Amino acid sequence: MRSVATLEQPSTGKTHEVFNQPSPLVDYNVFEADRPLVEAVRREGAEWAEERISAVGALAGSARLQDLGAQANENPPRLKTHDRYGHRVDTVEFHPAWHELMGVAVGHELHCSPWKDPRPGAHVARGAAFMCMSQAEAGVGCPISMTYSVIPALRTQPELAAEWEPRFLSDRYDPANAPAAAKTGALAGMGMTEKQGGTDVRANTTVARPVNGGGPGGEYELTGHKWFMSAPQCDAFLVLAQADGGISCFLFPRWTPDGERNRFRLQRLKDKLGNRSNASSEIEFDAASAWLVGEEGAGVRTIIEMVNHTRLDCVLGGATGMRAGVAQAIHHASQRSVFGRELSDQPLMRNVLADLAVESEAATVSALRLARAYDEAIGGDGEAQELKRIANAVLKYWICKRAPAHAGEALECLGGNGYVEESGMPRLFRESPLNSIWEGSGNVQCLDVLRAMVKSPASVEAFFGEVDEGAVQEPRLAAYASALRNDFPGDLETIEARARRLVERMALALQASLLVRHGDEAVAEAFCASRLAGDWGQAFGTLPAGTDFKRIIDRHRPLA
Ligand SMILES: Cc1cc2nc3c(=O)[nH]c(=O)nc-3n(C[C@H](O)[C@H](O)[C@H](O)COP(=O)(O)OP(=O)(O)OC[C@H]3O[C@@H](n4cnc5c(N)ncnc54)[C@H](O)[C@@H]3O)c2cc1C
Repeated sequence: MRSVATLEQPSTGKTHEVFNQPSPLVDYNVFEADRPLVEAVRREGAEWAEERISAVGALAGSARLQDLGAQANENPPRLKTHDRYGHRVDTVEFHPAWHELMGVAVGHELHCSPWKDPRPGAHVARGAAFMCMSQAEAGVGCPISMTYSVIPALRTQPELAAEWEPRFLSDRYDPANAPAAAKTGALAGMGMTEKQGGTDVRANTTVARPVNGGGPGGEYELTGHKWFMSAPQCDAFLVLAQADGGISCFLFPRWTPDGERNRFRLQRLKDKLGNRSNASSEIEFDAASAWLVGEEGAGVRTIIEMVNHTRLDCVLGGATGMRAGVAQAIHHASQRSVFGRELSDQPLMRNVLADLAVESEAATVSALRLARAYDEAIGGDGEAQELKRIANAVLKYWICKRAPAHAGEALECLGGNGYVEESGMPRLFRESPLNSIWEGSGNVQCLDVLRAMVKSPASVEAFFGEVDEGAVQEPRLAAYASALRNDFPGDLETIEARARRLVERMALALQASLLVRHGDEAVAEAFCASRLAGDWGQAFGTLPAGTDFKRIIDRHRPLA
């Protein structure tokens, strides 16, 4: 019971002071604050683009874009099958936040810059800017990545490329549901996965019938379905279907050239674990018009040109998630005290933060090195082509595989706040398994490495050439690489069952080689001691006690 004296005191409405809660991590430049990324951009040939990347970095870190990212996820897209009069429209309605984010991404040409302005370092520059933008919102990366990736595959059919490429290279985001010819810019998607098979696209049952004899560039009618087709609001898609000559690649536009809605139906949108701002659909084709890209029967060979580039973006996306997690974790731990001492000063938390940072730096450094291999390979460098062939699969497997564990640990650094939506960490966590699944899941990447070993032995040599450049400087890497070589390929009877172990070791050797040569000294030391020499546990936060934790954390601190 309250005393008379208490009852007589007027209430101030103030029950307690709020203190020891960190400030939100906003209004900072996510590029400028990311030292490993800035260094990688300079090293891998994109120094000329720093100002442009920094502009995206400033926007992505702004309170405005961070808020838009949250809004786009809280208000997921909705399928709209019909208009108010009952006509089919088969489109998707997005929250204005999505459109604004897409406008920023397209305006900064993240979907096209290397094709529009090809020059050394163009894919590195675009990759770094893509990493920055994805820290505001990862979902927009899906249509952005597919549009970036469609160009090399589309060029297989020059007359189709001549018609569509200028639309995809536009820096104007035009979300209208209208024929592409009437729009100021267009976006592309991709449809391969069917109910009975995603990895095994040769099991596709969608049928393609020639309209006037068919042939490369000719018109066909598609009948069948796709079980996953993301960003179905796009203007055109590369899809696989069975023609008489076998599985083939087609350009399927939303609208036919005579301005009619193409004959397809969006059946449902997927209710996804994460990536909720982005729409992923199920679609049916009912004698839909499409145009053959490349030869009949060459569908996988043609569309793989697109898939290779989206795979690069999966690697970049995995590295991005890690960077976002590290930035949040260090920021929080630097402003939060427990038992009267800042968390980032406490030895065990330092170990966790530094271990997360080491993983993040290894991912960033190797992702940007891979992007340079794209630049060089497209420029005609045969060795880079071989390295890219194998390193893309190695890195997609490993970086994407590490992402969920990394996101979970970064989330825990924020304590209970990290489990609450407002922190953004649950969104990061839900997004984290996706890059490993799409564009070829983990096992598929490992099997692809085995395929590269058999089909292009030169790719193995290019890979070890890159590893050896670091091994000459670091005995632990030399020993690790030598043991790896000895097991290569090893017993062919068991190689498939061993593929994950083999590819994991390849990834660690490659990352170590890059860190030894280009990374921070303390980061490289921690990486080699833990990941190569085995002085490490099974969770993050188990680096050797002698690690220079402070230096590693300071290097990765998002705010000075
Ligand atoms: C959010 C989201 C969006 C997507 N968007 C698109 C899109 O826009 N377009 C599109 O075409 N697809 C899209 N996909 C589909 C995606 O690419 C496939 O789900 C993926 O390729 C796996 O195919 P699947 O689902 O048929 O699984 P399966 O092929 O059945 O594979 C299941 C598991 O088996 C493993 N596996 C497969 N083969 C082997 C083997 N030989 N040995 C050992 N293990 C094996 C795989 O690694 C996987 O873990 C999307 C998926 C998601 C989740």
